[in-house]
Amino acid sequence: MESVILQCDEVTVDFDGFKAIQGMNLSLERGELRFLIGPNGAGKTTMLDVICGKVKPTAGKVVFSKTIDITRKKEHQIAELGIGRKFQTPSIFPTLTVYENLEIAMKQKRGVFAAMRARMRMEDHDRIEAQLEMIGLETKADWRAGGLSHGEKQWLEIGMMLLQEPEILLLDEPVAGMTDNETEKTGELLKQISRTQSIVVVEHDMEFVRNFASKVTVMHEGKLLKEGSMEDVQRDDRVAEVYLGK
Ligand code: ADP
Repeated sequence: MESVILQCDEVTVDFDGFKAIQGMNLSLERGELRFLIGPNGAGKTTMLDVICGKVKPTAGKVVFSKTIDITRKKEHQIAELGIGRKFQTPSIFPTLTVYENLEIAMKQKRGVFAAMRARMRMEDHDRIEAQLEMIGLETKADWRAGGLSHGEKQWLEIGMMLLQEPEILLLDEPVAGMTDNETEKTGELLKQISRTQSIVVVEHDMEFVRNFASKVTVMHEGKLLKEGSMEDVQRDDRVAEVYLGK
């Protein structure tokens, strides 16, 4: 387990007596694209909330990069350590250009690491250009972000996250509402990102999961139901049962 970047041990979340998560374990390797699936109410989003510090578990432990216990850390501290969260609704600045949005994301990062302020100036433009290319928006740098398509807005937000150099990206249904073409491009983008960073994706689109997942974690009623390749998961009778609602 040399390359474990995130370890969640026996995480439990109790919302006023209702256990949304019960003793959940999740171990994520560096450079992994992991899909978290399960029926509605399984606890997937709550699990992302726990990892990014938005929800504090009632029991259990979350350890980042093997030694850093982040269970009780504040959301902004966890973000600064390198865990980025993207929600379904993009948090971009619609009246600013695509380029300006990326610039803001980079400055936010620099604010945190004030010591780095002196250098980077020359690199800034190149980094933004490289990011624009990666998210496929190099010809739209001067567009107002509000004028982008739904898919493009999602990619812009992913680009903004990447400029903050997270080690882990947590994504909540990134392809919801996208066209087939946009979905395919998003999958390719996530694959590319996962060469260097780790990603956890909560996803309902099973075709998307089938096409891009190497490892899938299935949750049900706040617990781990099954983990493995998509083939393993699809072959499991218990997984079929919870999806068919039996
Ligand atoms: P999923 O993402 O798998 O659909 P969630 O993590 O959103 O599931 O929710 C798991 C369960 O916890 C659901 O039954 C949901 O209603 C409940 N839940 C989520 N957030 C809260 C909250 N803040 N207060 C009370 N119950 C919640």
